[in-house]
Amino acid sequence: MSLRNNRLTTEEYNAHFSDIHPPFEIHSAALVEANRCLFCYDAPCTKSCPTSIDVPKFIKQITTENLKGAAYTILSANIMGGGCSKVCPVEKLCEGACVYNLLEEEAIPIAKLQRYATERAIREKWPLFTRQPSNGKRVAVIGAGPAGLSCAHALSREGVDVTIYEKESKGGGLMTYGIAAYKVTPQFCQEEVDYIISLGGINVLYNMQLGKDVLLEILQQQYDAVYLAYGVGLARQLSIAGEQLNGVVDAIHFIYEIRTKGYPEVPVGESVAVIGMGMTAIDAATQAKRLGAKDVTLVYRRTEAEMPCTETELNIAKLDGCKIIWLAAPKEITGENGQVKQLVCEMMRLDERKSPVGTGELITLNVDMVIKATGQLPYTMASPQIDNDHGKVLINEHAATSLPGVFAGGDCVNGGKEVVDAVQAGKEGAKAILQYLIGE
Ligand code: SF4
Repeated sequence: MSLRNNRLTTEEYNAHFSDIHPPFEIHSAALVEANRCLFCYDAPCTKSCPTSIDVPKFIKQITTENLKGAAYTILSANIMGGGCSKVCPVEKLCEGACVYNLLEEEAIPIAKLQRYATERAIREKWPLFTRQPSNGKRVAVIGAGPAGLSCAHALSREGVDVTIYEKESKGGGLMTYGIAAYKVTPQFCQEEVDYIISLGGINVLYNMQLGKDVLLEILQQQYDAVYLAYGVGLARQLSIAGEQLNGVVDAIHFIYEIRTKGYPEVPVGESVAVIGMGMTAIDAATQAKRLGAKDVTLVYRRTEAEMPCTETELNIAKLDGCKIIWLAAPKEITGENGQVKQLVCEMMRLDERKSPVGTGELITLNVDMVIKATGQLPYTMASPQIDNDHGKVLINEHAATSLPGVFAGGDCVNGGKEVVDAVQAGKEGAKAILQYLIGE
């Protein structure tokens, strides 16, 4: 057993990584669903959206065949509303709050309707937004992920000239590099970034890493304000024996490789263990299976009731044939000739506070690959002078860091949340920067 790439045919790779969300094929199908909406007053779906998209309004606009209006309603609240319609855990957010759940009927497929309106806007490049004339203010944004793009778009609409410094060769951040390719395709990610930038007034400089290619102190001198939105990146270590063996990889790196190399280029084991049960763990497990691994087992130290991923995500993993071992914590990875051979886990029980406690019983999995997906740590601090909490940038209620004129938001502040939370953080950052620059 060993890691191997090129396990499948081109047709199989294409089938395994094609878009998992079937869009509405015909307008009448979207209309039927839109017309089920009760257009609730004080709509709970809107309240549960971190970006407060006016859901009943955009659904109403779809029913009146005003797709441009619907797209504007969505994108003015969430400029990444197209991508979010594909990656948001909607059963925990808008669709989970839909009143139809109380009636024990199918919730309105809000995400699918949102996709229906926004995908056309992005594909057909509808010019829904205009930019105010330049007001002479210049802002540097670090990171072209959801928080950075959202902040840049909101600032540019108000006439601020924005330069984004992005360490990768493409924009989109987590959307482009950190989410399963079958949820949001690379082509869509590129189209969404292009659409946001098409507003004008936003210059993106790629392959520019903060602290290496560009220094915060220089940006502070060259710009009127700086917005830090560089996300998170480093995978949390397991700190167990055998972690350095060949075949032990972190999920972030594994998914990054899938998103940046061709699918046949990415090596995967025959029998893979994935440690963790968050969205990243599920994305790693399902993609390992889709790359051709025979057996994939998710190992989680708590029970299904405590898992961080949604039930929908869990079902995707199960449908892909992934196995799950609940109440098991990794103890040791053993190897042969430097290559992973076994993962040894201790069985757990939960105490009264739902904390896992070891039972002493050990189980052994014969695997040739172990993927670690137990959380991420912030990147090394952009500047040691910025107040931080174990690497997470500290900000006040106005998104301001401890350095004058330097603001921050998104995953580098909160340690890693949903894409939609990052978009909202970017909006709030732009509002705070406008207040700081021009008192608006
Ligand atoms: Fe429509 Fe459901 Fe929102 Fe009510 S809660 S406005 S029915 S989507």
